[in-house]
Amino acid sequence: KDNPVTGVKRVLLAAPRGYCAGVDRAVIAVEKALERFGAPVYVRKQIVHNIHVVSTLEKKGAIFVDEVGEVPEGSHIVFSAHGVSPKVVADAADRSLEAIDATCPLVTKVHREAVRFARDDFEILLIGHEGHEEVEGTMGHAPERTTLINSPADVASLQVKDPDNLVWLSQTTLSVDETMETVRMLRERFPNLHNPPSDDICYATQNRQVAIKKVAEEAELVIVVGSANSSNTVRLVDVALENGATAAYRVDYANEIQQAWLDGVATVGVTSGASVPEVLVQEVLDDLADAGYGDVRQVVTAEEDLMFSLPKELRKDAAGAP
Ligand code: SF4
Repeated sequence: KDNPVTGVKRVLLAAPRGYCAGVDRAVIAVEKALERFGAPVYVRKQIVHNIHVVSTLEKKGAIFVDEVGEVPEGSHIVFSAHGVSPKVVADAADRSLEAIDATCPLVTKVHREAVRFARDDFEILLIGHEGHEEVEGTMGHAPERTTLINSPADVASLQVKDPDNLVWLSQTTLSVDETMETVRMLRERFPNLHNPPSDDICYATQNRQVAIKKVAEEAELVIVVGSANSSNTVRLVDVALENGATAAYRVDYANEIQQAWLDGVATVGVTSGASVPEVLVQEVLDDLADAGYGDVRQVVTAEEDLMFSLPKELRKDAAGAP
């Protein structure tokens, strides 16, 4: 059925959106490793949680594996942006693998906090999603002292050893509002709960949520580009729905947009997760333009200019580098 809305159709394009500094660095790390060492280069887990990025790198000669045990001895292996536990690093060394660590520096920061609080005898309450690679990596830095808080519902039944020696940390890609609610509930039960030294939810996650909130206030429909296993992408759908959008959908590719979603919609909000190349957003905008939504306005809530240096194994001055 034709969209009955005429003359007022528009797109509000959230900014910031798409690639963050940690994803940019991790993708370039795989590309540089392929250039420098030649294919194949092995990558433990998806380098970033985006199927398009992964399949593009596969075509260039990257081989994605679940565990280091699958990698032939002596090969090059890249650790993904989500980080790894010390056990994975040790397992790679045992197989004489040449490791390139593309862990996002903002995840490494959380690892360091976990190690320090564990050393200082704190019990760590890690707010995050069970089974997510980042959570596994962070828990692996203080396995004896970390308890996972998977959802606000976990707080009521939580058992701790010493309520005066607790600190909370979090996954970097959560919903800011939901995490603050979980912390509020934790503090209600444990008034002496310590805070981390700085936010663990990273700047990119926060900025993308602020931008889509603003867009969702005016958009009936929000389209979030990104993959199903991308935590920050899925959070953008939640945040849009909680802040005014009547409907919000996640798509990997533009061709997943259904005509019915647009029925009666005047304003479509568009954003993308931190692991999403801009070309995929452009394809969504092109399809929306074909459907009559050619008027695109950016809603800018922050400017981002953060960049990280490459993993040390790939810097120009690294031993053996050209
Ligand atoms: Fe780093 Fe945040 Fe990007 Fe994750 S989303 S790679 S923590 S900057």
